[in-house]
Formats: sequence, structure tokens, C-alpha cells
Amino acid sequence: MNTPAVHSRPRPARRSWAEPWKVKVVEPIRMTTPEDRMCALAAAGYNTFLLKSEDVYIDLLTDSGTSAMSDWQWAGMMLGDEAYAGSRNFYHLEETVQQYYGYRHVVPTHQGRGAEHLLSTILVEPGDYVPGNMYFTTTRAHQELAGGTFVDVVIPEAHDPASEHPFKGNVDLAALEALIARVGAQRIPYVCVAVTVNMAGGQPVSMANLRAVRELTQRHGIRIVLDATRAVENAYFIQQREAGHHDRKVAELLRELCSYSDACTMSGKKDALVNIGGWLAVNETGLYEEASNLVVLYEGLHTYGGMAGRDMEAMARGIVESVDDEHIKARIGQVEYLGHALIEMGVPIVRPIGGHAVYLDAKAFYPHLAQEAFPAQALAAYLYEDAGIRAMERGIVSAGRSKETGEHHHPALELVRLTIPRRVYTQAHMDIVAESAAAVFDARERAVGLRMIHEPRYLRFFQARFERLA
Ligand SMILES: *Cc1c(COP(=O)(O)O)cnc(C)c1O
Repeated sequence: MNTPAVHSRPRPARRSWAEPWKVKVVEPIRMTTPEDRMCALAAAGYNTFLLKSEDVYIDLLTDSGTSAMSDWQWAGMMLGDEAYAGSRNFYHLEETVQQYYGYRHVVPTHQGRGAEHLLSTILVEPGDYVPGNMYFTTTRAHQELAGGTFVDVVIPEAHDPASEHPFKGNVDLAALEALIARVGAQRIPYVCVAVTVNMAGGQPVSMANLRAVRELTQRHGIRIVLDATRAVENAYFIQQREAGHHDRKVAELLRELCSYSDACTMSGKKDALVNIGGWLAVNETGLYEEASNLVVLYEGLHTYGGMAGRDMEAMARGIVESVDDEHIKARIGQVEYLGHALIEMGVPIVRPIGGHAVYLDAKAFYPHLAQEAFPAQALAAYLYEDAGIRAMERGIVSAGRSKETGEHHHPALELVRLTIPRRVYTQAHMDIVAESAAAVFDARERAVGLRMIHEPRYLRFFQARFERLA
């Protein structure tokens, strides 16, 4: 007797997650033609930062300030106390940062770089060295503006896009120790530890590594400052990947992570689910007094720091939502979904898949292009041309020039970042992105490089202009 076929087919495995929210408001996006996109790209000098948002279909330029707020955050916007001094929203924000991040004092700033500016101005003196686990653009720029020299102390695996190391953001303890021996502890105002490391592909730092950095620096009396921009995502990776932490809540892991540091700079535009905002949080009272004085010059009074009351309220509420285990699982789950789709299609990406973005390996796309022909910048342009997807270069253009020699820095990684805003796009959008990246990969042999025709002095990747080489 024949069994009916319908009974013999195995069921697909159950999907492990879906978003813990539903959509209440939608924002229509304009569809463009290939001709529209060619014109827009030429007008933007082949720099995706110079494209108009209305010419973009799926915007993966950054996850910074591009996330969707919840109804609870929007409700909080109506409760803005727009007093110049002592707004109740400031006290709510202060309390929330103290509760979830654990620092004693909070200075609000308009965004992360405002906090970096305050911290670098106060702590970095000309001739100082600031070790960090790979540089971040604005962080290093502020350290250098204050007269310091950034020294990369990330583990070597971070520079290898094929390494599957689960904590590629870890600090190389031997390199840090060697730097301390070479320049002396008194020339190092703090070690800057980014959790996660954006420029390495959104790669986390392990709890054990941070604890070891703490032990080492305490012996030398050196502070640790966290770049806590994506610390919640880092805490999630610790929960998933590090032995002994699987049963702990992300909120608890975040508190412990921060407890190994003396201060943090924070861009609320990432983890904290707001369109604008940031803070500097410190434990030392003397440092707090200086920062809350200096903030008046550059951002605003120490109870608003360049933010409206409503924005502080939205950020306080965003922090609470950001540490929810279901939220962070779905957020990183979506990034992993895109990464796995690309791997299945044979598109070269940085492994393992990071927290906020999937990074295309432009060197593997275009081995025929020299780094001086800006392969990652060229790839970002081709991706926009194919389907209107906007990504960002993270390679030689972002790395800038050496302060001493004026030559380009030549980073080992030449990447294009597909950054996923939180709670904004659907799985169907991710499918379009994967198919477009695969089409650009299939056309890789025809790709040509770029020539830079305008180079701004600071953070050139934002405003540089290019032409396609003939
Ligand atoms: C975005 C970011 C910053 C700077 O924050 P802004 O809010 O953009 O000024 C600093 N560090 C890291 C790791 C970031 O991703």
C-alpha cells in the first residue's frame, strides 16, 4: 500500500525567534529606477554619505539614530519637561543610567562624540597615549585633538576577517603591558575599551578579558573607560558564547561589564533606541565636577547637555527596553539572518557575524583592485546602484591619514558595512539585501576602482568625493 506523500515530508525545524513587537505606524519609501540611481550616485561623488535619503530604498548606512521608537517612548516624548534647569526627565535619565549601567554620575550630551570630547579634553594631555581595542573614528579624533596618540591593542584575530574567534574584540594583554612598559603608566590617562568593537565588525569583548584588563590596569593605577555604545549587544554575546553566563539576564551582564570600568562614553543613538542623545558617566567625583562644568561650554547645562527634555525621557525609556532579553535576541537574530543568507549565497563576509551589522569583505570581492583604488568605497557604490541599498565604507577612506607622515593609514580590513537599524526593516527587506549583494558579487570582475577628487581635513569619509576610474 502507498502512503500518501503528504505524510512523508519532514517538517522544517521550528524558527527560534520572531520580533517581540508589531507595527503600528509605517513610513512609505520611494522606489527608484537604475537611471535615478546612476544620477544620484554621480551627484554624490560616489560617497553614500552624500546621497539624499529620499533616493535610498533600504538604508543600511548606520544603526545610529535610525532605530524605531516604541509607543511607550513616544508617549514619554509628550511628558518632556522643557525647563532650562533641573528637568524631571534628566533625573529620570540619571536614575536609569545609574540603575542599568551602574556608574555614579551622569552628564548628558547631545550624542556620543560630545561625551568623547569632554572626556578627552579633561583627561588627555599632549604627549599622552590612549590604548584602545581598535580605533573608532570620532573617539580617536578627539583623543588626537587633545594631543594624545591612539595605540591599537586589540588581539590580532580582529584584523582577520576569516577568524571565527568568538570574542574578536578582546584586548591583547601582552600588547597593553608592553605599551605600559614602553611609555610609562603616567603617560596613559585611561585605556579605552569598546564593547562591541564597531570597526572589527561589531565583535564583542569577553567578560574574562575585561576582568583581566581590569587586573592589569589596576596594578598600574590606570583607568578604564568603556565605549558603551553597544554594551547591551556585547552583554548578549557574553550570554550566548561565554561559559558560565548562559543563564544570566542581559541586564545583569551589562551591570557586571560596566563594573570593571571607571567611566563610559555613550551614544544613545545605538543601543538606547533613540534618534539623538548620549552621555558621559563616571564614578570619580572630581572628574564629574570637571565634566559637568565643561559641558556648559560645549553642550548645555549639566541637566540637559544639548538634549530636549523629551529626548532625555525617550532615552531613559529606551535604555529600559534595550536590556530586555527578547528585544536583544530579535535584534541580533535579524543581523544573523542576513549574515547567514549571505554566507549561503557564497558572498564573502566578516566572520563571525557581528552584533549590529554584516560586513562585506571588499578585498575578497575585488582582489584586482589596489587599496589606493578604494575597493570598499567602490563596492558601496555598486551596491547602491544595483538596488538602492545604502551601506558605508569601513576601510582605507575611514582610516584617514597618519598624523606624522600624512600618508594614508592602510587598515588590514577593507569592508562595507550593512548596518541594521533596530526595529525598522522586515525579514523580506533582508532578503532583498542578500540578493542584491549576491548580484554585485557575481559582477565583481567588471568592477572598477575610484579616484578621490575632494578630501576634507577631518573624518574625510563623511564628505570626500570620488570619480570612477576609466
Ligand atoms: C556612533 C559611535 C560613537 C559616536 O557616537 P555619536 O553619537 O555618533 O556621536 C562612538 N563610538 C562608537 C563605537 C560608535 O559606534
